[in-house]
Formats: sequence, C-alpha cells, structure tokens
Amino acid sequence: MSASLATAAYIGATILFILSLGGLSSPATSRRGNIYGMIGMTIAVLATVFGPRVSMAGLPWIMVAMLVGGSVGLIAARTVKMTQMPELVALMHSLVGLAACLVGFANYIDPVAAANLTSAEKAIHEIEIYIGILIGAITFSGSLIAFGKLSAKIGGKPLLLPGRHVMNLTGLLVVIYFGGVFMHAESVSAGMIALAVMTVIALLFGIHMVMAIGGADMPVVVSMLNSYSGWAAAATGFMLNNDLLIVIGALVGSSGAILSYIMCRAMNRNFISVIAGGFGTGGGKAPAAKGDAQPAGEVVSISAVETAELLRESKNVVIVPGYGMAVAQAQHTVYEIAQYLREHGVNVRFGIHPVAGRMPGHMNVLLAEARVPYDIVMEMDEVNADFPDTDVTLVIGANDIVNPAAQEDPNSPIAGMPVLEVWKAKTSIVMKRSMASGYAGVDNPLFYKENNRMLFGDAKKMLEEVFVALKS
Ligand code: NDP
Repeated sequence: MSASLATAAYIGATILFILSLGGLSSPATSRRGNIYGMIGMTIAVLATVFGPRVSMAGLPWIMVAMLVGGSVGLIAARTVKMTQMPELVALMHSLVGLAACLVGFANYIDPVAAANLTSAEKAIHEIEIYIGILIGAITFSGSLIAFGKLSAKIGGKPLLLPGRHVMNLTGLLVVIYFGGVFMHAESVSAGMIALAVMTVIALLFGIHMVMAIGGADMPVVVSMLNSYSGWAAAATGFMLNNDLLIVIGALVGSSGAILSYIMCRAMNRNFISVIAGGFGTGGGKAPAAKGDAQPAGEVVSISAVETAELLRESKNVVIVPGYGMAVAQAQHTVYEIAQYLREHGVNVRFGIHPVAGRMPGHMNVLLAEARVPYDIVMEMDEVNADFPDTDVTLVIGANDIVNPAAQEDPNSPIAGMPVLEVWKAKTSIVMKRSMASGYAGVDNPLFYKENNRMLFGDAKKMLEEVFVALKS
C-alpha cells in the first residue's frame, strides 16, 4: 500500500472513530456507533499492517500475533458475563499500558529509531519515550489493581497508608529528577537505569493510587483508567510517529476524562478527592458483598401476588433496575411485565441512575438487549421530579442508588450522592434476596420506610411469579 493511500485510510478511520463516539452517546444510536468503530478499526489495522512502514519480512510475525490476540479477545468477549464487563475493560486497559511501556523500551534501545535525528529532535523523542512509559506503567499496574478490586480478588476497602500524599509527592519529584538523568544520559545503558527506576516508581504509584480508592468510587476509577489508556496510546503514537494512534489516543483520553467528570458530578464527588483516595472508608465493599451493616429497623414483606395487585391498580409505575437485575438476568421478564402493564393502560417507565450496576451504561445495555423502547427509559434527572405522582416504584436489585441516606444522613459514606427518590412514590417495592447492603456497604433506610415493601427472592424468579399473578 502506498504512503498516500495509507494516509487516506487513516483519515477515513479517524472520521469513523469520531462518528463512533458520537453514536455511542445515546442508546438509540449506539449500535450504529459500534459498527462505525468496527469498520474504522478494520481499516486502521489493514492500513497499518499493509502500509509502507511494515516490511514483508515482519508480516508473518504480525499475523501470528493477531491470530493469538484476536482469538483470546474473541473467547474473552464471548464468555464474559455482562456483570464481569468492567473487569474485562480494566484488563484491556492494562494491556494498553503494557504496550506503551514495551514500545517505549523497544524504541529507546532501537538504534534505527534515533538515527539521523538532530539534537532537538532526539530530546523530543526521549521526552516522548519517558512520558509514554510513565503513563503506560501507571495505567498497567493501576488497571490490574482495578481488575482485582472489581472481581473481588482484592478487598474494596481503601488502603490509606500514613503520609500517602507525601509519598506520592516524593515519587513525583524522584520521577522528575530521573527524567533529567535520562535526558542527559551518555549511553543507552545509563539511560536504561533511569528509565527502569522511573518505571518501578510509576508501577508502585499506579498500585498505590487505585488501592487508596474506596469501592463506591470504582466507576470513576474505571473511566479514569480508560482515559489514561487513551493517553498511553497517544504517547505510543508519538513514539512510533503514527498520527492515527495519536488522534485515537487523544479521543479516548479526552472522552474518558469527560466521562470521569460527569460521573463525579453524578455522585457529587470532587474529581481531585477521588484521585486522592480514601472515600468509602466506612464501608467500601467488594462487589456483591453481603455487607456487615446491621439492619436498623423493621421491614414489611410483600408477596408476588400482592405486588401484582398493586401494579394492576396503578396508573403510574416507575421501574428502577440495579446490579441485582443484571445478576439475575431478569431484564426480559421485566420487559414482559412492563409491556403487559402498558397494554392495560398503565404508564410504565424505567428510571436509570448513572452508576447503576457495575459499569457506566450497564442498565441501558441490558434493557436494550431486552428490546425495551428507548422512549420509556428515563435518566435520573428526568424521572426524579415524577416520583410524588407515581403509584408504585419497583426497585429491582438496586440498593445504593435508591438510598435516602445520601440525602438524609450527612455522615453517610455516600452523603451527597444524587439518588433516585423512589420513597416519594405512594408505595415502593424493593426486590432483593436478603437484607444485605449494596456495593458501598451501607445500610439502606429505604427498607424501613412506612410506604416501602420488601419482595424477597431472586429477581428473575420473583418477577416470573409477579407476571404469572398479573395474567391470572
Ligand atoms: P448495589 O450493589 O448497591 O445493590 C445491588 C443489590 O442487588 C444488592 O443489595 C443485592 O442484595 C441485590 N441482588 C444481588 N443479586 C440479586 C438477585 N439475583 N436478585 C435480586 N437481587 C439481587 O447496586 P446498585 O445498582 O444500586 O448500585 C451500584 C453500586 O455499584 C454503586 O455503589 C456504584 O457506585 C457501584 N459501582 C458502579 C459501577 C458503574 O459503573 N455503574 C462500577 C463499580 C461500582 P441481595 O444480596 O440481598 O440480593
């Protein structure tokens, strides 16, 4: 492939990636967005592999690597459960970070890469390598820890070492110092020592940074690492002189940063304090932990038949799905109930919290899979004002996102987090298996409110019973 054809292909791929991001911003266009992304990536890979910078001798190696990597990716994507998606994403981010590190080291020891460079160009090249490896190493180790936390292999409680901010600052100063040593290194082996020291510090910083973040802040961390992986890819693009990688890395980096900011706003958290860590000290829990918060009152249970009766008599119903709906895979039964009620004149809508489930957009993906129409899927801000006019809110396997303590208890670890105000409806029904706490590990006063009922059991099984009762 000629250089000009490869450039044209890169421009085409860039446009497709921008269209892809645009499409992914709304559930209605997300499928199209994904298709744009897939076509863009295919063009990008083909234009790179068959482009002017890859020699024929290298092709078989690339093909073998693509075959192995592609197979692993295919198997992982096919076998991963929807609830394990954030873990998979965290693992993928770690690979981007690792790739940036390896490319950085390879670039530094490659005599061809720095040949024929003026001293100014050489300095810029070395800065690219240093920063690329720095971001890559932080992304790599931070993402591995995020994977460990999300998959409950590592506890969700934040690790708060004494003097951790001083440690981080010292690490930064050492990294800057060794940056100077690296730039002035007389030989590759001398530069390698500085690079190696910096890499170890960056790896430790990545571990320390994510270990210090509490369970309830993990969604922000996942999207922040997404942003880091974008910047790591952009840095790799600079090292390899690959414009497409720079543009795509910057797109991923900035969109991840914007998403992190939006999520912080959704949880009433300050981005800097998330990074500084320590949130959720009282109860950051591993996913699906049973929680050790003690129940603080009496709850009133309800049966599936009574639930069906309440739903049948309602005019307005809001369904609030959470992590438990994903675990139970209850989305299809939920939709059947919603459809049945709509056919019988009930106004049914879904209320979605920005951090419901275990990844951004988790509920939207499940509801789209069950073919729930987009126009009855409302965001938290759209639906919150309507709860006082709602007859029944059906909370399906959600807990933290409907916890009134966020508004009522300034000492709660989730104080200030915006929540779906389901308790303002005439009746709220919470479907879950036990009195266990949610991801943040805090007790939920909603369960003890006078107008709340608990429908205990697996969400799918109970919804099937409700559906049978509704139809009979
Ligand atoms: P929660 O984790 O707060 O609560 C889920 C509830 O579902 C639990 O209380 C559990 O109770 C119940 N449950 C589990 N399995 C089943 C089942 N089979 N049937 C019925 N119920 C079940 O989830 P939310 O969606 O309310 O909140 C999300 C939380 O996750 C927030 O704290 C958020 O910060 C965090 N988070 C979000 C991420 C994101 O990007 N969206 C990523 C990482 C974390 P029981 O065991 O009694 O059944």
